[in-house]
Amino acid sequence: MATLLLTNIGKLIQTRQTTENPLSGEDLKSLPSLDNAWLLIDQDTIEDFGSMSTEVPRADEVLDVNGDWVFPGFCDSHTHIVFAESREKEFVMRLQGKSYEEIAAEGGGILNSARKLRETSEDDLYMSAMGRLEEVIGYGTAAIEIKSGYGLTFDSEVKMLRVIKRLKDTYPVSVKATFLGAHAIPTAYKDNRQDYIKLICDEMIPYVAGEGLADYCDVFCDRGFFTPQETEFILEAGWKHGLKPKIHANELGITGGVQAGVAQNAISVDHLEAMSQVEIDLLKGSKTLPTLLPSTSFFLGLPYAQGRKMADEGLPIVLASDYNPGSTPSGKMSFVLSLACLKMKLLPEEAFNAATINGAFAMEVENEYGSITKGKRASIYLTKPMNDLAFVPYAFGSDLIHTIIIDGEVWDRK
Ligand SMILES: [Zn+2]
Repeated sequence: MATLLLTNIGKLIQTRQTTENPLSGEDLKSLPSLDNAWLLIDQDTIEDFGSMSTEVPRADEVLDVNGDWVFPGFCDSHTHIVFAESREKEFVMRLQGKSYEEIAAEGGGILNSARKLRETSEDDLYMSAMGRLEEVIGYGTAAIEIKSGYGLTFDSEVKMLRVIKRLKDTYPVSVKATFLGAHAIPTAYKDNRQDYIKLICDEMIPYVAGEGLADYCDVFCDRGFFTPQETEFILEAGWKHGLKPKIHANELGITGGVQAGVAQNAISVDHLEAMSQVEIDLLKGSKTLPTLLPSTSFFLGLPYAQGRKMADEGLPIVLASDYNPGSTPSGKMSFVLSLACLKMKLLPEEAFNAATINGAFAMEVENEYGSITKGKRASIYLTKPMNDLAFVPYAFGSDLIHTIIIDGEVWDRK
């Protein structure tokens, strides 16, 4: 099939001629759309779009969508979907009031996830991650970032990144890989953390970069994990090998992560539940994007990042899922939108922009994803007609998507 034309689109959402910068301020509040539209797809690319009241082009195949709404796929710029085992037992222990130490002693936490991952074969890891990737494609995600970080040894980190590479090579969605060897200090190095940092910088980063297994380098810069100085040291090693930084910062406290990220020209600093005006002002003067992960606050019962304040201060905020077994066992981006609206007081238009075009910038895929723009990938989803866009975050438990098109082809939902 060469060309596909969608006709009688009730509303075509996020239509833009160009997308040159991440959106902030008044621009973040505006979500351009076209009523009663057509969309022409050539192979895997958006060829053109327009109003049904103007001249409608011809195509090899025509799909009359009868008033359905068409959206660009979500861009989820922060996930950890490669892991060995879900952690619902730990969830129940938490409900029973057990402490973090008790949970870790009974087999929970990042270090136990790491132990299980080391024992799991690459094929088994791939099979389970594949299921999660297909799940989130079904929720409308068209571009995703996936991190390593549950290996914490040379071989296991490489194993995770190989799994991510296989996902990238197999699926038609955009997959960006992030090396997160600095997710935690493994038990074996608890008394000599410098040696683990040396292993990351001298062995893991050169190998991972040399094999083309990662696009970015991440560090969990927070209380009890890596210090800002250690973070900058690791990120510099990443830069030397062409891995740009994207980091975990200020989840557990105001601990210098934003400063380290900005100093290292990070693409994004993610989490930011704990922020003061100093960090907000620092981000305002930088190109580093603030990425907020409200599902994590929801699941752990932590304070939410100050999304409203950051948006009002003119920051180009990004929303992502943080899908992972410990703190966010969900990659449903429409639920992220609901939380961003309800808990951070973002407007639906701001939340959509943060989860599409700004998310695309946080993965450097803004020329291919994040909006309905000529020349971008035809990775979109369809819903039944709605009265208002706000229905998506409002109807928080509903599954509104009925058809997904990835690179111009209908995705068969499993
Ligand atoms: Zn994370």
